[in-house]
Amino acid sequence: MRLSKLFGKTQREIPAEAETTSHQLLLRAGMIAQVAAGVYSYLPLAWRVLKKIENIIREEMDAAGGQELMMPVLQPLELWQETGRDQAFGKGLFKLCDRRDRNLCLGPTHEEVITKLVSQYVQSYRDLPLRLYQIQTKFRDEPRPRAGLLRVREFTMKDLYSFDTDEEGLSRSYNRMLEAYQNIYARCGLPTLLVEADSGAIGGKDSHEFMLVTETGEDEVIYCPECRYSANAEKAQSIKGEAHDKKPLPLEEVKTPGAATIEEVSGFLKIAPEDTLKAVFYAADNELIFVVIRGDLEVNEIKLKNALKCYQLRLATEAEVSGAGIVAGAASPVGLSNIKVVADDSVTLGANFVAGANKPETHLKNVNYPRDFTAAIVTDIAKAHAGESCPRCGGKLLSAHGIEVGHIFKLGTFLSQKLGAYFTDPDGVSRPIIMGCYGIGLGRLLAAAIEQNHDDKGIIWPAPIAPYQLHLCPLFFDNPEVAAATEKLYNELTEAGWEVLLDDRIESPGVKFNDADLLGIPVRITISPRTLEKDSVELKRRTEKKAEVVTLADLEVRLKELMAGESLKTAVD
Ligand SMILES: [Zn+2]
Repeated sequence: MRLSKLFGKTQREIPAEAETTSHQLLLRAGMIAQVAAGVYSYLPLAWRVLKKIENIIREEMDAAGGQELMMPVLQPLELWQETGRDQAFGKGLFKLCDRRDRNLCLGPTHEEVITKLVSQYVQSYRDLPLRLYQIQTKFRDEPRPRAGLLRVREFTMKDLYSFDTDEEGLSRSYNRMLEAYQNIYARCGLPTLLVEADSGAIGGKDSHEFMLVTETGEDEVIYCPECRYSANAEKAQSIKGEAHDKKPLPLEEVKTPGAATIEEVSGFLKIAPEDTLKAVFYAADNELIFVVIRGDLEVNEIKLKNALKCYQLRLATEAEVSGAGIVAGAASPVGLSNIKVVADDSVTLGANFVAGANKPETHLKNVNYPRDFTAAIVTDIAKAHAGESCPRCGGKLLSAHGIEVGHIFKLGTFLSQKLGAYFTDPDGVSRPIIMGCYGIGLGRLLAAAIEQNHDDKGIIWPAPIAPYQLHLCPLFFDNPEVAAATEKLYNELTEAGWEVLLDDRIESPGVKFNDADLLGIPVRITISPRTLEKDSVELKRRTEKKAEVVTLADLEVRLKELMAGESLKTAVD
């Protein structure tokens, strides 16, 4: 490909609208162009990267027993109402109406369509297991599309669905996909961290995410270097201390003038925050919920939402709280009867807590669970933090930031039961098919690759997904000798199967080198009158500062060595 003919232009200025590195570099390199908020065109260079990622994914899916098919983007809304997931997706679902006033939506995912499809063809256990996938466009109406390709409203996704007869079968499918995903990231040159993930309120069981670790990633991972426990912060747990054996003392009212927050109350009474109980109010599908958690901990809203199995969760308003007869600043779970209470399991570990008395400027000492209050749900709903102790081995937890580039779920039978996907087992008994689903966003992986691999000059593509392998960079291209040698080399390399981008522009060396660094192709080959005096070229890897001089006769051998090194590096990572 000749750079002078390539559609898309590099730009020196950092685009004002781009906050993240990958967004800036993709725009500056002329790889993407925005059409609407969260909607992008892929220009030829980015499209080549996407196709390479797609090929690797397809090979690994096929090798893992996947069969490729294609389902429609346009889906009847009815199907989503059957599973209740129209509610779960809420405003994230793009809905539309056809000319006959039938309600449709643009698929944000395809569990509904594929489960219905499978129910039409699977009758017996002999028809299973099945692993079906597609690489296709998805739509999600993100509340805040941003960060270029990292959070978009239209995107390409590979989604595979597994259908098995029993839990062991599901585990086999799940583990095979986990392995296939690890192969995909390794082959793309993108090492990832496997983390336990939240599987959502509806129908999910086990779930893992693959995180590309970057300093600026928006997802937080909590991990233990001792035992390799690692989990998304939404799901992560930590040890909250040992159960006390303190004797419960009688309840006692104390005046706490001017003290409302945990800091103020513990300061006033000269006690530690972990000896208090904090009250937080939420509205879960508009029902008021009283959440109790030890004073030193914070509520993890994802865990709370899962515990409540609700669709919508938000903090309650002041009016909702006072309307229920609760005294702000001294709210108490003691003596509460008309409001659902959810308690973090930390309340069972301590004794003689200080909690509100539900009277102005008054608190209660020696509140004990379950003597003084009970809860409809007691479970882990607390945020885990770095520095706390590992739930598996007691080691010290650390935190890292990353970008989620893949997510796998054990779905179970929730959707097959809702949508009537049953099979007959060897005893003639009808059973729901056991499902799993496995997704990778291709554009997100492309952007994450840049977030992880760049410097202040531009992109540093991992060789397996680079848009081209070689960047042929003649200096003084208007010099007939340079032009002739370049054209000859370009033809030879192309015929030998190398993917070459030729910078055939008449530009200064500075401009050409800057663009080469910005585009990030793994190996730059420079030809100039000076190198031609020695029948040679200069080779420079994008990852290295120094160039090496190689004779034209030795060039191909050296290139093969370099590329083998690049892929070797990938395999080891
Ligand atoms: Zn550990």
